[in-house]
Amino acid sequence: MRPTRLNPLFASVTTLNGVGPRFSKLLTKLLNFPQETREPRILDLVWHLPTGIIDRSARPKVKDAEAGSIATLRLTVVRHRPSARRGKAPYRVLCEDETDQIELIFFRSDRKYLEQVLPSGSTRYVSGRVELYNDKRQMPHPDYIMDEEEFNNLPLLEPIYPLTAGLTLKVLRKAISQAVDEVPFLEEWQNKSWLAKNHWPDFNSAIKTLHYPEQKHDISLTGTARSRLAYDELLANQLALALVRLKAKKITGRRITGTGKVQQLVADKLPFTLTSSQRNAISEILSDMAGPHRMLRLLQGDVGSGKTMVALMAMVYAVEAKLQSALMAPTEVLARQHFQTLEPLCRFAGLSVDLLTGREKGKNRENVLNRLESGEIDILIGTHALFQPDVKFKDLGFAVIDEQHRFGVHQRLALQDKGGTEAADILVMTATPIPRTLLLTHYGDIEVSRITEKPAGRKPVVTRAIPFDRIEEILSAIRRALAQGAQIYWICPLVDTSNLINLAAAEQRYAHLTQYFGTSVGLVHGQMSGREKDRVMAAFNDGQLSILVATTVIEVGVDVPNASVMVIEHAERFGLAQLHQLRGRVGRGQRQSSCILLYHAPLGETARARLKIMRETEDGFVIAEEDLKLRGGGEVLGTRQSGIPEFRIANVPSFESLLNTARDDATLVLNEDPGLLSSRGQALRTLLYLFECDEAVKLFQAG
Ligand code: ADP
Ligand code: MG
Repeated sequence: MRPTRLNPLFASVTTLNGVGPRFSKLLTKLLNFPQETREPRILDLVWHLPTGIIDRSARPKVKDAEAGSIATLRLTVVRHRPSARRGKAPYRVLCEDETDQIELIFFRSDRKYLEQVLPSGSTRYVSGRVELYNDKRQMPHPDYIMDEEEFNNLPLLEPIYPLTAGLTLKVLRKAISQAVDEVPFLEEWQNKSWLAKNHWPDFNSAIKTLHYPEQKHDISLTGTARSRLAYDELLANQLALALVRLKAKKITGRRITGTGKVQQLVADKLPFTLTSSQRNAISEILSDMAGPHRMLRLLQGDVGSGKTMVALMAMVYAVEAKLQSALMAPTEVLARQHFQTLEPLCRFAGLSVDLLTGREKGKNRENVLNRLESGEIDILIGTHALFQPDVKFKDLGFAVIDEQHRFGVHQRLALQDKGGTEAADILVMTATPIPRTLLLTHYGDIEVSRITEKPAGRKPVVTRAIPFDRIEEILSAIRRALAQGAQIYWICPLVDTSNLINLAAAEQRYAHLTQYFGTSVGLVHGQMSGREKDRVMAAFNDGQLSILVATTVIEVGVDVPNASVMVIEHAERFGLAQLHQLRGRVGRGQRQSSCILLYHAPLGETARARLKIMRETEDGFVIAEEDLKLRGGGEVLGTRQSGIPEFRIANVPSFESLLNTARDDATLVLNEDPGLLSSRGQALRTLLYLFECDEAVKLFQAG
């Protein structure tokens, strides 16, 4: 249970004075909560940190007040000049000091109110931005109009917060300062000497300093207050991940050791030799399997780097140890393709491989399930259908998840908990090179194998960006390529959320190309039944079809080595990662391959940048980095959709070094106090609640 002291922070903002549903709505928008899924709470206001400061310490005479600057002036009110009846002109109040005159300007004003706060002849302090209009000084809508006493209480430095239309700084500030008052005193969870070494304040002071800055540096991203809170957030994140890992490790894995004999049979049957990158990855995986802990390893390798073979070798190894293996692909098409490539190799080596997707039904499915449970099936390939509750292995030892560039930590955590696969070692394969920092924040210390080289003999793909009005040229080039026996992918984009519209676009292109090239053109799209898809894919694979028009269904992982031309229509609509994935489908065989990015002018800035990067490099790591720059980390990982909160406070320049320390810190803490029972441990529990690391919280609750 959450410590009761924290409860006020988790109350709705509407419990604050002057805050109602309207404010709450605006805040939801401001904080970018997905579709109003949850109401903003007081804590959300506490985390809403200032991005700048208004400095009201400048107190010039009117004559010296600079246009464009914030000034606090001591003025005598001379006379009111109400706007003309019905006129759009503003209400003006003429004021002066001993040096010059200045007008305060109010649009849509309330006369009564203004006469009350600015009585003629009185002395008032006003603070706001000075502007020049027709060579005369004026101050439109002063931020403050004060008498002597109010002026004495004016904070000279005022924090500025990100706002949204309809929400004023004044209203937001009022709410935030109430929210800050709700923060209870919390026992220190950080190591004291680490705090002292960095000159970091305690948690409560850090919050106060950020919301009530006394000097500009107080709110700086590199200041001590912000650094302390950033570290708090990172420590919570790392501690949470470490707890999850600790639990995973408690499920003792088993030592899986094969003989290597069947592996050898398979390797001999391959028409190529494995690259040294592939061999390294395999040996890293095998030594994990042989170890006492349960394996969780990530295999990173660019499109076409040959991850499937690595997976196969590891699966075979587990079978040698008299266990079963599973391979889960992200799509039906891909599962079938994996089956087609792997089954003959395995059959040759005396292993039995089978397939289970959403399409296997009735008798067929029952048959597979029975043979799986009896242990007749050595390797099962499939889609997420593999993880349905009635799928029972006799003894699953090793599971591969081929995620390509899709990523979802949550599913994987769920999978780890799934009965039946409890003791299985897990290998996750991805084509997305994930920067180390992102890996750490999403997995903690996960082991990673990287395939860094491509199979020998791959020729670079020639990439060109061509405007759509030159499509005739492309068609003639295609005609020439076809005459030489080439095969061609033609990708039509998902233009709309409606599948029907997408389908119409693809069907139109298909009809168009059929006019040119006759029956050698095929079409595959998401609305087709699985069987139809298979038929078309198989025909393309066998060379009966030479042009395959497709929506992005083939995006993930299809492998037809003879295909050497990739045309991507409306390339400007695709993301970099997608373009890279698509292009990775060609350049696998002997032919010189090319990728044509057909675009519709004019290009937006980001689209132009993407196409340029595509022309310049084929290096998946470079492309992923550029992608990260163009889109930001969360999107690359797909976490924005999967609901993992991004860091709210930790996004500071020292992020990386703080993260590394936090990881070590978390490891140390859990080594000494895995149950978080010591007094620091108790304080750290509060930290986890404060940063809502719910999954981890559940773990130590479960004991
Ligand atoms: P990805 O890493 O994108 O999943 P695949 O495993 O589909 O790549 O492999 C791409 C292609 O490269 C396949 O046709 C595969 O047979 C082939 N391949 C894999 N390893 C090698 C190798 N060492 N030498 C030559 N070709 C290879
Ligand atoms: Mg693959």
